[in-house]
Amino acid sequence: MVLDSDSPKEQSVRVVVRVRPMNEKENKANTLPVTLIRGVGQRQIRQVYHFDSVYTSYSTQCEVFETVRPLVHEVMQGFEATVFAYGQTGTGKTHTMEGEIVCEEKKGIIPRAVEAIFESLGEKGKYVSSAVSASYLEIYNEELSDLLTEARCGEMWGDAADERGVYNGRSSHADGAPKLSLVEDKGDGKRRGKGVYAHNLSEHEVCSAADVLGLIARAQERRRVGETRMNKHSSRSHCVFTLTRKNINQSLLTLGRVISTLRDAGGKDKARIPYRDSKLTRLLQESLGGRCKTVVIATLSPSQLAVEESASTLSYVEKAQGITNKPVATSFLKYLEEQAAEAEAALARKHTQQA
Ligand code: ADP
Repeated sequence: MVLDSDSPKEQSVRVVVRVRPMNEKENKANTLPVTLIRGVGQRQIRQVYHFDSVYTSYSTQCEVFETVRPLVHEVMQGFEATVFAYGQTGTGKTHTMEGEIVCEEKKGIIPRAVEAIFESLGEKGKYVSSAVSASYLEIYNEELSDLLTEARCGEMWGDAADERGVYNGRSSHADGAPKLSLVEDKGDGKRRGKGVYAHNLSEHEVCSAADVLGLIARAQERRRVGETRMNKHSSRSHCVFTLTRKNINQSLLTLGRVISTLRDAGGKDKARIPYRDSKLTRLLQESLGGRCKTVVIATLSPSQLAVEESASTLSYVEKAQGITNKPVATSFLKYLEEQAAEAEAALARKHTQQA
């Protein structure tokens, strides 16, 4: 891509926190909710953290979306943006990011953002539809899987567990779905590369927010099927859980190291940042210390039962606030020109191969 600006300005990663309402189990356990109190001098405060915004159990999906709405405007100006949710299982990451996509009140950030983007495109959307595409992947056990390939949903974990239901480390892609690997396109003097991306990940052209919601629904179904299989296996064996947690931890451990090193190095010594130590951090390379505008949403349970995990989440994401990115914008028109040039080049290559 052609850059509009040679000297991008630094911008901090924004970190917001969202506490979900108490769930049935937490209510039954008869524990008091942990209170978020602004100010000092309260006996309850064990640790004071500072964040860009805090959303409580009463905050609506609509209110939480307002924290990332400015990113939609910036994306339309040509910036790249990332929103990622971080938190203990069951604290509301999926609810915050996806929510119930068909319910006006309950839909999350992704459906709201795509609707806002297509709304901004307005009439222009008709002419640029082929320039907008969507993809969706999942990382499990350091393996990448495409949540939107045509492979049948039921095959997702089919070959990946042994007869005891223990995850056997084999790829879940042996069902014929393309195996994904990460590659880096650095670009050259004239063209900004794509950065780190998953090779062979299916890209789906979308012409409307409804198209995107359809894809999300498909991905949710695949994840649901995968999780159901996982639970079935885990009821017979502990190993599946252990392996899952081990791999989540591995990625998150590296994410933590990337965040700390970025903070300490002030983003100056890029070579020291251990992006390559996990797939997650490699994919988030431009989001943390790179060219994206980034918001991190930490999700929390309100319950006393989860206070240790909540404190650990808050300490973890608090570090991310010290990271500065250097967002760069690409003119949307130039982007379209590049897309057209790339399509022409691909067509020419195809013709040459056929000749
Ligand atoms: P995670 O993705 O972090 O594992 P989920 O998003 O699946 O967690 O949330 C777990 C449960 O809590 C789901 O049933 C979800 O609907 C509910 N939940 C999470 N956050 C909220 C919220 N802010 N308001 C209402 N329900 C929520």
